[in-house]
Amino acid sequence: MRYAKLVSALALGAALMLPAQAPSAADLTFVTIGTGGVTGVYYPTGGAICRLVNKNRKEHGIRCSVESTGGSVYNLNTIKAGELDMGVVQSDWQYHSYNGTSKFKEGGAFKELRAVMSIHPEPVTIVARKDSGIVKLDDLLGKRVNFGNPGSGTLGTAEVMMEALGWKQEDFSLFSQLKSGEQASALCDNKIDAFFWLVGHPSGSIKEADAGCDVVFVPAVAPAIDKLVGERPYYRHAFIPAGLYNGAPDGVQTYGVGATFVSSTATPAETIYQVVKAVFDNFEAFKKLHPAFATLKESEMIKDGLSAPLHDGALRYYKERGWQ
Ligand code: GLU
Repeated sequence: MRYAKLVSALALGAALMLPAQAPSAADLTFVTIGTGGVTGVYYPTGGAICRLVNKNRKEHGIRCSVESTGGSVYNLNTIKAGELDMGVVQSDWQYHSYNGTSKFKEGGAFKELRAVMSIHPEPVTIVARKDSGIVKLDDLLGKRVNFGNPGSGTLGTAEVMMEALGWKQEDFSLFSQLKSGEQASALCDNKIDAFFWLVGHPSGSIKEADAGCDVVFVPAVAPAIDKLVGERPYYRHAFIPAGLYNGAPDGVQTYGVGATFVSSTATPAETIYQVVKAVFDNFEAFKKLHPAFATLKESEMIKDGLSAPLHDGALRYYKERGWQ
């Protein structure tokens, strides 16, 4: 009796006074975010999210890591295969994956896909060597142009734009498909005349090209593009802000999509809840982790560009905050 009392007194003391024990390795939940090339914005975005999640690992037992990948389409296919837990993907490819349209027609609709939040805008960005003489869209015809690697959202979105403009691969002297990490050196080494990329700004690869050689930015404007933007819910007219790059002192008129963060029903609600909480409980810190996040607004991030249903874990957090 006395002994039992002593033990329970000690247990109570321990509960009151000792800090919570860190979860053991066996209790840890490992999650991986699929991103893009390391000189893009997806990769540091994954890094920013994981950094905030991992800060509270002792409380929730989640260990978050980032994988550099080929981009949106790869991320969606790999989340579907159960080999990635979360990923950053363009809003147009989120839409097509969930609905089984466009590139995803053959593989079928991914109805277990879940939206978590949207992040930064991704305008169509066309960077050309100044000495190529390219200043407008049609000047790209006949030139050596990089349109993105297979698996990138960029290549898919380029194909849609080309179809709208009536362009074919054969219209280019080189239809190159280098990865985003290779395009800046290819441009400045004069192996290509221009590259096309959907990315947030400022981005590492574009800074690399802008610093490495004389470049110009080509506005993606045409009546056929206005029509695309009018018809498709995931496209918007967009503007690359002035002053970010030497080659774009006045900014660039273009169109684009949004970067969005997605997962699937295979990832537990508790995990996604903790990820979303890490971002929005520390929102001012999150916005400072990349210059492309500086103008983000919570009210837009919980809905813009999200076509798949919200993940239960995200919904739980948004309801707690009174946002839903
Ligand atoms: N939007 C690009 C894609 O999926 C990736 C951009 C980035 O890496 O920041 O192709």
